[in-house]
Amino acid sequence: MEVPKPKCLEHPINVPTKLLMGPGPVNMPLRVHNAMMKPMLGHLHPEFTQVMDEVKEGLKYIFQTTAEVVCCVSGTGHAGMEATMCNLLEPNDVILIAQNGIWGERAADMARRHDADVRLIKKPPGDVCSLNELESALLKHRPAVLFLVQGESSTGALQPLEGVGALCRKHGVLLAVDTVASLGGVPFFMDSWEIDVVYTGSQKVISAPPSVAPIAFNDRAMEKVRTRKTPIRSFYLDITWLANYWGCDGLPRKYHHTGPVSSVYALREALSMVSEEGLHALWSRHSSCAQRLYSGLEALGLRLFIADPAKRTPTVTTICIPEGVDWMKVPGGSKWWFGTYCGQSVENWPHGL
Ligand code: PMP
Repeated sequence: MEVPKPKCLEHPINVPTKLLMGPGPVNMPLRVHNAMMKPMLGHLHPEFTQVMDEVKEGLKYIFQTTAEVVCCVSGTGHAGMEATMCNLLEPNDVILIAQNGIWGERAADMARRHDADVRLIKKPPGDVCSLNELESALLKHRPAVLFLVQGESSTGALQPLEGVGALCRKHGVLLAVDTVASLGGVPFFMDSWEIDVVYTGSQKVISAPPSVAPIAFNDRAMEKVRTRKTPIRSFYLDITWLANYWGCDGLPRKYHHTGPVSSVYALREALSMVSEEGLHALWSRHSSCAQRLYSGLEALGLRLFIADPAKRTPTVTTICIPEGVDWMKVPGGSKWWFGTYCGQSVENWPHGL
């Protein structure tokens, strides 16, 4: 039997305008929408590779790095996480993962799928690891890789990163950091904090559509990739192929996959807005928006989930659901998640918070 034409496609697509304040994508500026409407180009046309080169410059700025391998995985933040695991890990490599929310759990799940020997530092949700705790765990487990999440969006915790890279170098460990929910909203310095691999998402502070995961590997990380004894288990996420397609290896670009052309235009425009505003202004805007949100919430009698302000990421605010309120009815309807990304200006917030 032939499958009939779907009736639901006969009416125009219904997409309401919503103010996005949950732990997903944020509203995109008009400039970013408009960039997506530019004509399609071939994924290896010189005009498109020029746009890719401009994206790389924007990413080097937002990651604060001069690393050569700075590019995007075609996929969302999870693809960045998966790319980190599959490129850095070989079977039986020990990876130490700090777990204080769902992202550490996901990272551990992925690392196990690559047959790594996963060790955990468990912290209660909302808490973070100190340098002392990290150093003791490095000495105990002797990992090849340490994986941390800077902004744990399931709890709103901000993992301090200063000093961790130096510890990792002292113990011969590679440091990989997830900044999907934090990059652009809080200071991050890949090079001066000696972080070997970092990835983020396009749809949070950067305010582009979900679809491309910016990622950077420094020379130490690339050395590990180059000296692997076993092949990288994913062709699509192989950083050596991605680095070539993104023009990071000095060799002629080869077809690896069809890059998400319109999304790359959007990312280019969003990064140019980041650059116009400047990182310091962007970080302080997020900080002051978060301060206003905290005081507004407290004025309403709500208690913030993370009591110590120093442990909160300004990009995601978590609130204790008051006694007697059914958490399933709270926006998002999900047990872990009641967050607010402040990727937009405070004027857009409801109730003038
Ligand atoms: N890491 C963190 C910290 C996140 O907050 C998210 C998404 N909210 C991800 C990874 C996964 O990103 P994505 O949903 O874009 O795949």
